[in-house]
Amino acid sequence: MSDTHNSQSAHAGHGFETVAIHAGNTADPLTGAVVPPIYQVSTYKQDGVGGLRGGYEYSRSANPTRTALEENLAALEGGRRGLAFASGLAAEDCLLRTLLTPGDHVVIPNDAYGGTFRLFAKVVSRWGVEWSVADTSDPASVRAALTPKTKVIWVETPSNPLLGITDIAAVAQIAREAGARLVVDNTFASPYLQQPLALGADVVVHSLTKYMGGHSDVVGGALIVNDADLGDELAYHQNAMGAVAGPMDAWLVLRGIKTLPVRMDRHSENATKVADMLTRHARVTRVLYPGLAEHPGHEVAAKQMRAFGGMVSFQVEGGEEAAVEVCNRAKLFTLGESLGGVESLIEHPGRMTHASVAGSALEVPADLVRLSVGIESADDLIADLQQALG
Ligand SMILES: *Cc1c(COP(=O)(O)O)cnc(C)c1O
Repeated sequence: MSDTHNSQSAHAGHGFETVAIHAGNTADPLTGAVVPPIYQVSTYKQDGVGGLRGGYEYSRSANPTRTALEENLAALEGGRRGLAFASGLAAEDCLLRTLLTPGDHVVIPNDAYGGTFRLFAKVVSRWGVEWSVADTSDPASVRAALTPKTKVIWVETPSNPLLGITDIAAVAQIAREAGARLVVDNTFASPYLQQPLALGADVVVHSLTKYMGGHSDVVGGALIVNDADLGDELAYHQNAMGAVAGPMDAWLVLRGIKTLPVRMDRHSENATKVADMLTRHARVTRVLYPGLAEHPGHEVAAKQMRAFGGMVSFQVEGGEEAAVEVCNRAKLFTLGESLGGVESLIEHPGRMTHASVAGSALEVPADLVRLSVGIESADDLIADLQQALG
């Protein structure tokens, strides 16, 4: 079966847009259907005991629709092996239980998805894994957090919700010297904007729920690696733990990915316009967007990203109440958690997505508002924010 998981070579030399549409998406051999079918099936007829027709025996172990997505993901990230899970956190859980044993130490970022922090602080820590927090945008801070037992350095760039930027190549070098593995959560950028494996990362993590799916209609996660042995180990654990992506979910993500490049271009364009307006607004005290020249990570972002993405955060005059008020007054920006869909979303991280980091080193400012800038008309988005800011 292993050759069915590797489509890297089939699209070597093709541009990203071509790979997004074609990798894994081979025509159905039975009918010629140009879109891979949703193989809504749990088991497969064997021709005599052990006689597998297409290599498939049970859909937790492998399912053809999921295989199509896994091949596509591997090709997009420039990795040898892609694995699709029921959610981003299911992917993270499988990764951590594959890489870590009691006594190991991990370095985690001081700004990250709240659920990732919760997984380390409340779940993985119970199995005797220690963690320290570093400002991963500062390589010296990462070095200072290392211990002789550090096995994993975890990076999110751009980070959630403060849009911090980490120099992936610089931290990859530190990880190599320390004998640790560098994991990059590439959810905010997507492989169209940023390719962590090429910059030296060992593992890429995705919440497919966000830009990859792109339409706020599916929850999913992924791991992509280059190391074949690590790929086999992860696949073993994926099957042993069982939190796999179902065929319908895999199909929805595959469909979303076909338009990833055009969506990311428009998300980035719209976010740039929104960020520009916010920097000039009297009630906005700070705008966090890596595309702004004054952003501390701007140069690194310009070096390692194709564009700056669709996420913008900002702080408002008047503290927490004022930030909550802006969220409540927005009309076109839907008040809700999550991100990365075609429709714009607004939220208050302190009370919503990042409530689980309250009181920790990852606590977020109370006057912070986070936007997932969608692909509607930029003028309409700007007008809505202006009325919400009052
Ligand atoms: C949403 C998200 C996750 C978790 O993914 P789920 O699909 O919700 O489990 C992880 N990392 C980042 C950056 C996210 O935004």
